[in-house]
Amino acid sequence: MNFLEKFRLKGKKAFITGAGRGIGKSVSISLAEAGADIAVVDINLDSAEKTAQEISLLGVKSFAVKADVRNPADVDQMIEKIMNEFGTLDIAFNNAGICINENAENMTYDSWKRVIDINLTGVYLTAQAAGKVMIKNKKGSIINTASMAANIVCYPQPQVGYNASKAGVIQLTKSMAAEWGPYNVRVNCISPGYILTEMTAKSTQWIPTWIERTPMNRMGYPEELAGAVIYLASDASEFTTGSDITIDGGFCCW
Ligand code: NAD
Repeated sequence: MNFLEKFRLKGKKAFITGAGRGIGKSVSISLAEAGADIAVVDINLDSAEKTAQEISLLGVKSFAVKADVRNPADVDQMIEKIMNEFGTLDIAFNNAGICINENAENMTYDSWKRVIDINLTGVYLTAQAAGKVMIKNKKGSIINTASMAANIVCYPQPQVGYNASKAGVIQLTKSMAAEWGPYNVRVNCISPGYILTEMTAKSTQWIPTWIERTPMNRMGYPEELAGAVIYLASDASEFTTGSDITIDGGFCCW
């Protein structure tokens, strides 16, 4: 077999959270181009349906699922719908996340809880749901979206909850990888740097500093994360687990 064939995802069944827009949407389209059928999960059903329609035009199966990743009942219903439609699950990309920029001394309890619930508990719940199916199947690949903010303190904006939540995602990833390695279920994460999406585009006051501090002198685009996710989702990475791939234009080098 030509080695490139290992990167193909033809016939594999995937779900992606936060896929209504931004990184989740862009990576969903790339995974579909690599051959995967995609369940598009988002708290915003309208945007999820639009992504699913776009993906269906690529000749793979796709449908939208409304779920709030913080809510265990929503996650149960999400996995039930996916199993009804697909019959199995090979890939889970736990990507939904938010950022709140408040000073550590003033951040409200509600803001802290919202960030931790979506970014960390949400990843835990959706990865756990995927893991249960994959353990039975004795195969599967789970990819979580962490951030370079897991390892550095981003500057100049304050985001204590976000940084802490993403550090948690890396340790959650390694812990699940260690527990589920014996079942041939792999768990990895990606750590993007500054990527141009609706999440970052509104931060016009900070963008010049981000670009100046990035060795490649620009922000990244969501499609520049797809190569790493396809690699981690595919058989090309069959011995890779517990890893974190940083994609940041060199930001963390300095
Ligand atoms: P975005 O705001 O453009 O998109 C996030 C998507 O997640 C939206 O469609 C939103 O509706 C959905 N979502 C939010 N809360 C949800 C919930 N409770 N349940 C289900 N869906 C929910 O953000 P993005 O820039 O595409 O970021 C995606 C992921 O990448 C996040 O985890 C983010 O922290 C991470 N990330 C982003 C950057 C960046 O620079 N954009 C950098 C590093 C990491």
